[in-house]
Amino acid sequence: MLSPETIRRAPKALLHDHLDGGLRPATIVDLAAEFGYAGLPTTDPVELATWIRRGADRKSLELYLETFAHTVGVLQERDAITRVAAECAEDLAADGVAYAEVRYAPELSTERGLTLDEVVEANLEGFRIGVERAAAAGRPIVMKALVTAMRQAARSVEVAECAVRWRDAGVVGFDMAGPEKGYPPTRYLDAYDYVRRENFHITIHAGESFGLPSIWEALQFCGAERLGHGVRIVDDIVVQPDGSVELGRLAAYVRDRRVPLEMCPTSNVHTGAAPSIHEHPIEAFSIGLSEMEWLTINAMKSAFAPFDERLRLINEILKPGYARLPAEASRVVAAGA
Ligand SMILES: [Zn+2]
Repeated sequence: MLSPETIRRAPKALLHDHLDGGLRPATIVDLAAEFGYAGLPTTDPVELATWIRRGADRKSLELYLETFAHTVGVLQERDAITRVAAECAEDLAADGVAYAEVRYAPELSTERGLTLDEVVEANLEGFRIGVERAAAAGRPIVMKALVTAMRQAARSVEVAECAVRWRDAGVVGFDMAGPEKGYPPTRYLDAYDYVRRENFHITIHAGESFGLPSIWEALQFCGAERLGHGVRIVDDIVVQPDGSVELGRLAAYVRDRRVPLEMCPTSNVHTGAAPSIHEHPIEAFSIGLSEMEWLTINAMKSAFAPFDERLRLINEILKPGYARLPAEASRVVAAGA
């Protein structure tokens, strides 16, 4: 069993995280006061953290997304977005993340007049500041942004164009998020076609709250290179009584093409995509340090950063980091004994 401390020290690659899903509760309270957002259920950071945790764990993607009203509520000003993005980089670095792609839907921050480009610019500026602070604290991190379009809005082409405009400044791909049911991936073909014609990268939330058709459309019509969650691919996998496993055509395609699944068991339990952590399909494996290194390197290979940058991180940061870890872990045990 890996200790939380070993897991924290291990260098990690993070491909799926939402800027508006990881705010510090105290920052939400600060920003609400500074920018006049009156909608918070409480202004006590500890109570707010409890409220958000409870609000997120309601076993439905649609209910889960309601919690975001407040984090998005305080992300309507340039300085607020920059602060949150800077803290995001610092918090991930402190958690041992060496490479992160953090996504955000700029259309969510336009209530007070910011343009899509202004939102992305503020976000990237925050990452730059956070990366600097993290490096100064001895925890270097590489931060990239994914620009997300929301399914409920009808701005996917505009958002895709915005993503491509910022490709040389830290945006590495285009994503689609929001409720899946009733919003199949093929509704947004114009946006995906544009992104592909620009030789840019696509990941799509699919197979989280909705099943195989969503995954199939994302891969075969929309050009998704990775799947956001994709956990329902398990519906196309049959485990026989003798323990042997049979993959359906779609599951076999995902495996054979090595389509990366950006999975987050905690989130899947919160949104009801999996009944519990123990019943989550990927918990069938007991993950040790070598499996964790393997998963991390696979994640890094699947990143949207340029290939030479991925290789540099694998060879200079990830592999040496894991090589050092067993010794460090045993020293920690010895010191505690
Ligand atoms: Zn997501």
